[in-house]
Amino acid sequence: MPLAAQELYPTSFTVASHAVLDSVRRLGIDVVEYAPAETGGGLRVVAVLGADEERALAARGVTTQRVVLSAAARLLESRRIALGARAFTVFRDYDDSTRGINAWLRAFAAARPGVTLDSIGATVEGRPLLVAKIGAADDTPARPNVFFVATYHAREWASTEMALRLLAWLADSLAATPAGAALLAARDVWVMPVANPDGYQYTFSTTRLWRKNRRPNGNGSYGVDLNRNHAGFFGRDDAGSSPMPGSGTYRGTAPESEPETQAIAAFHRAHRPDAAVSYHTYAGAILYPWGHENGALAPDQPLFRALAGTALAPAIPDRLPGSTRARYSAAPGWQLYPTNGDYNDWAYAEFRTAAFTVELTAGCCDGGAWYGFEFPDEEAMLAQLFRDNLAFALGVLEGAGSLEAATGPGGPALPQFEALWPAVRVLVPNAEVSATVQLALDTGVLRTVAVTSDWEGRGRVFTRLVGAASGSSGARAARAGSDAGSPDLVREALARAGAESESMAWSGFTRAPGGAEGSWHWWTDGACAGTPCAAPVLASPRIGVAGRSGLMLHFWTQHSGSLFASAKRGVVELRADRGAWVPVAEVTGSAPAWYPLVVPLEGAAGADSIELRWVADGMGWKIDAITLTAPGGGLFTAGRSATEPAIEVSQNPVRSGSVTLRWAPAGSGPAQVFIYSLFGTPVAGATLLPDPGRWMWDVRTRGLPVANGAYIVVVTRGDGRRIRRRLIVAH
Ligand SMILES: [Zn+2]
Repeated sequence: MPLAAQELYPTSFTVASHAVLDSVRRLGIDVVEYAPAETGGGLRVVAVLGADEERALAARGVTTQRVVLSAAARLLESRRIALGARAFTVFRDYDDSTRGINAWLRAFAAARPGVTLDSIGATVEGRPLLVAKIGAADDTPARPNVFFVATYHAREWASTEMALRLLAWLADSLAATPAGAALLAARDVWVMPVANPDGYQYTFSTTRLWRKNRRPNGNGSYGVDLNRNHAGFFGRDDAGSSPMPGSGTYRGTAPESEPETQAIAAFHRAHRPDAAVSYHTYAGAILYPWGHENGALAPDQPLFRALAGTALAPAIPDRLPGSTRARYSAAPGWQLYPTNGDYNDWAYAEFRTAAFTVELTAGCCDGGAWYGFEFPDEEAMLAQLFRDNLAFALGVLEGAGSLEAATGPGGPALPQFEALWPAVRVLVPNAEVSATVQLALDTGVLRTVAVTSDWEGRGRVFTRLVGAASGSSGARAARAGSDAGSPDLVREALARAGAESESMAWSGFTRAPGGAEGSWHWWTDGACAGTPCAAPVLASPRIGVAGRSGLMLHFWTQHSGSLFASAKRGVVELRADRGAWVPVAEVTGSAPAWYPLVVPLEGAAGADSIELRWVADGMGWKIDAITLTAPGGGLFTAGRSATEPAIEVSQNPVRSGSVTLRWAPAGSGPAQVFIYSLFGTPVAGATLLPDPGRWMWDVRTRGLPVANGAYIVVVTRGDGRRIRRRLIVAH
């Protein structure tokens, strides 16, 4: 006799800390959301539970409460139970012979010579695993592969809608413009709208919140979590995936034990993607490798940040009506929670794919009740979700053509320091792994530091070299040089602070023992104090920066927030010459291990002095090993050119009617400045004689405001050298 279908409920409960949440996840509990609790300092957790799991938590003294769905979601759910897939006007199941995904994809491809449909395998229950290809039917190594995949997790319907809309837009709208057709002709683009068709069909026919595939596990339970079944870091620990077959995050008996992950792996071996996006719901985040371990940063961090943006300026806005956030978060995957065997880390580790997981937003709240996975079955809402996500998908498609050039200003990738102390961490382009690192110590001694590549070796564009720094407060300057042709990277420390005794000019937060360098750090629990209450602030003294440009802030941090609750956050702010405070960086996720952040301080250009402050808005935050650096080679007199070609912009993203571009120094020869769209179309430009080192763009093309999105600035100097940078326009 078959078992009765398992009922699953979104359920909320409170735990005391991130450590307790970790132990809950080790029980195999399918945690889908957590956020700092409004009172009591713990975390409010939402998990999808069966009745047996509710009892298991109760036995451990955890009081659970089923989440109240919105009235619209409850009505839709009762219609689904009565009518199945016929209850929906927008969402479609897999199997329906007229409206289902299988039939829809076949009809879509049959009607378009520019779209080819392939089955790359079959599921446990025998459904075809369908991948649509846009453009020429063949695959050539001359064209970079770009892979979009959705719905590893059965219940995340909005992600399949995203993939279908992307497929249709690329094939019909983008292909209809000359520039778009040229872009598509230069890529092999693949879209897989449902990675888990069996589970997806089951969410229409039986259990709406089903997550896994439909593998019979032999003990009466069903399903393997396909996004924990990939071969990368498989089963590394029992919090990032579960060994228990009944768990919602069950990883399976072995890496790639499932036909679905086997088919995706074979596809990757045949068509190695340069870039990929895996769509999920519903955290509202752009996640990139690594995801398997707290604090781990991939060597290609600059590449991931160039495409995904930062927490302060991410590549995806959230314009859904009623959404609690204005934009997605952008962070390494572990800042949501560590996972193992997932798509991102596997594709990046195995194929060096620039792999992103986009957690689509839920656009919460319908009268205060909860959407979660149950995104409204409304065309206008899903169309908005797609429009918000289109620019990032296009950026990935475009960036795949030259991942090296996508990494930031200056055209080809340049070496950059991640941290100057307590360890020296420098990211060097793969061609330059023979780089040497030298420090100028406070004593005036120049010391060469032995650096080695860390465990990951070469990334896609960068390799990270790591060496021991000197003392508890770092060096006065650091230089990284190589024989591979790019100019030396030289940065001078204008300020250093790490809560040691010499940091007394810094104020706020609490000094606490232990830190990134093992002695002291600053800490706050983020609770506001006073009347009216104010968030805790760590403030720098005034730091003289006259005549310096290209300022960069480096620091190490831990924080105990949640990507699900970006209102609780830490913000780094800058003010120049006692002016207004402006945010320069933001963190919101969960980071229980030290990691380094690098923040360009473009707002400091031209200032005589700056101040910095860290504002902990409801979030526990630790700070250590702060270093403010600027290019400067004076301490390395034997050094080669210390010039670091760069274009500084007055704001990025550009939100007002004009943006000022600065490059230095001015010259007597001519300079040409051009703004290009991502398709390489010039939209604005000028020839300047003599080169004034600056130009103001009115953010218009032929008199009209340009569309929102990414643009490339290229300045050609009198000596023929070209410098570039990426600009986001978001009116
Ligand atoms: Zn998911």
